[in-house]
Amino acid sequence: MQSSLKIGSIMGIPIKLDTSFLLALPIAAYFSAINSQPFGFAEVEPPIVRYALSALSAIFLFASVLLHELAHSYFAKRYGANIISITLFLFGGVASMEEIPKKPGQEAKMAFAGPLTSLIIGFICLFTYSYIISPNPALSQNSVYLVIWILGSMNLMLGIFNLLPAFPMDGGRMLRSFFARKMSYVKATHSAASVGKLVAILMAIFGIYIGDLWLPLIALYIYSSASNEDRSTQT
Ligand SMILES: [Zn+2]
Repeated sequence: MQSSLKIGSIMGIPIKLDTSFLLALPIAAYFSAINSQPFGFAEVEPPIVRYALSALSAIFLFASVLLHELAHSYFAKRYGANIISITLFLFGGVASMEEIPKKPGQEAKMAFAGPLTSLIIGFICLFTYSYIISPNPALSQNSVYLVIWILGSMNLMLGIFNLLPAFPMDGGRMLRSFFARKMSYVKATHSAASVGKLVAILMAIFGIYIGDLWLPLIALYIYSSASNEDRSTQT
């Protein structure tokens, strides 16, 4: 069954949209439209402009997720891995490759390239907004430029979240590479997965403590990903 749509290719890598992505754009745009400034466009009138700007920021957000995955793919290719495709899902993107570079230094660089790209985009956008747009009333009163602020803060969050030392985040892979310098790949995966489980437990406790239900849900996902990664490497 065909569950993804190919929209083109970059660096010879097919770029696909998963069917769940059809929901992702409207959901991301909807949250932009109902959130107050500076995290959204709720105050912008007329509604057509509000929704157009929300859709625009959602599209830019997914374009930056794509850049994040392309950064991983660039290094994976450089280290000889064959990238089958990059697919955008509801919750982000995945670059599927035939074999992950297993040399510790290579996996670490490949894993770090993604969050680094997100952090660079985030800093450039926030810098532009704070030092060029914000001091200039002619620009700062135009809500179009708020897209840059939203894009900047989302990319910064994306970069930081992906650096969490837990699978399936990039930080989990970086941690495994760090362990793999001193032990076998299987043992390193097991150690990194254990750290990931600990991060998930702490995240769940913190979420319950502050009364946020999303964090325990994300924590559950991270915990099961850690178990899966551990199991699949051992077999
Ligand atoms: Zn990544």
